[in-house]
Formats: sequence, C-alpha cells, structure tokens
Amino acid sequence: MEAQAVLYNIHTHRKPQTKTEYSIRNAYLLNIEQIQAKYPLSSGLHPWLVNDISEEEMLRRLEKNILTKKIVAIGEIGLDKFYPNLKKQQHYFDKQLALAAEHQLPVILHLVRALDEADVILRNFSGPVILHGFRGNRKVWEQLNKKGNVYASFGASVFNQSKKAAENLHAIDPKRILAETDTAAYTIQSIYKEISMLRAEPIDETIKLLNSNAQRIFGQP
Ligand SMILES: [Zn+2]
Repeated sequence: MEAQAVLYNIHTHRKPQTKTEYSIRNAYLLNIEQIQAKYPLSSGLHPWLVNDISEEEMLRRLEKNILTKKIVAIGEIGLDKFYPNLKKQQHYFDKQLALAAEHQLPVILHLVRALDEADVILRNFSGPVILHGFRGNRKVWEQLNKKGNVYASFGASVFNQSKKAAENLHAIDPKRILAETDTAAYTIQSIYKEISMLRAEPIDETIKLLNSNAQRIFGQP
C-alpha cells in the first residue's frame, strides 16, 4: 500500500484514527452542539428520531451548524420502514434534501425497506447521494441512480458477506463505489484492502479508484 496515500472513510462514528485518513464523522443533530471538531462532519436528523424534534427546530439547528462547523455532508437522513411515522419521515427527509441542495452538500442515506418511497422523494435532488452501509444489489442502486448521482458505500459487509459484496463490487459502476467503517472496529485500511481483494486488483488501483470517487464529491483533503 502506498505509504502516504490518504484514504477516505466517508462514514464513521469515531474521530479520525490516523493522519492519512480523511474521515467524515457522523454527528447526531440532537447532540452536535457538544462537538467542537475541526475535522469533517456529517449531520442530519436520522429517520428513527423524527418524533424527538420539531421540523422548525431541526432545520434551524442544521442550518446553524452548516454555517459554523465543518459539515461536508447531510446525513444520516432517509427512511426506515421498521420504524414508525413513515409519513413524517418522508416529510423530514424531503426538507433536509432541500437544505442540502441549497448549501450544495451531498447526502448520506439511511434507507431500510422504503426504496420506492425514497425514489419518489429523491427525484427532486440532483446532488451526490451516498447509500451508506450498502447491502442492497445492483437493482437497488440502478433504481435510485437514474440521474447518475448515486454512490454505494461499502463497510464491514465486505468481510461477512463477501460473496454478495464481491458481486456488488463488480455489478455497480466502479466510479460509484466508496468505503466506510461506520460503527465497526475495522480500520479504513482494512476495508480498502478487502475491496481490492474482492475486486481482484492491486491495492494501489483500489486506492486510486476509491480516492478519485470520493474526491469527485468532497474535493482534495
Ligand atoms: Zn453510522
């Protein structure tokens, strides 16, 4: 592996682990005030929490933090059919997408069993959309990617579902794949390494590919 290459970890709940890691730490909107980070953050109202805050307060808080912190993506936002209030989730999701569009920020999606509903809402958004913790298949990605703006981010599933992950890594346009650690104890280096094995290519090629994909969204570190 190239000694100095910066690796992009597009979704994590930890602080950056090494100097050669560009990681986007997720900050929950409800406790973001406690985070005084100088490093990149993502924030948004998770669909599980739509009953914890009013729409006005959500938008006020999100906008304030976009202006005062290093927020490089809105997320996790989205829809989850295993949780109640789908109508309210859809409304909050739509409002946060509008804010992301206004500030030209990409979004990081939490999407569970609500593909068609998300598809309808995403028609109004043409910025980068990142399906984080991707465990879907090519069809899921294709349905949402009609405008060519949808990325699939791979994390711990590359280890424990490697056959499915390998299929996805070959089926999806290589220009649309990203890597993340999320809450897993893996390092971003180990995720890159596993992706390179599953793609059957040298690690330097994987670094080049994943980094240029991430830089298309987030620019140079
Ligand atoms: Zn997460």
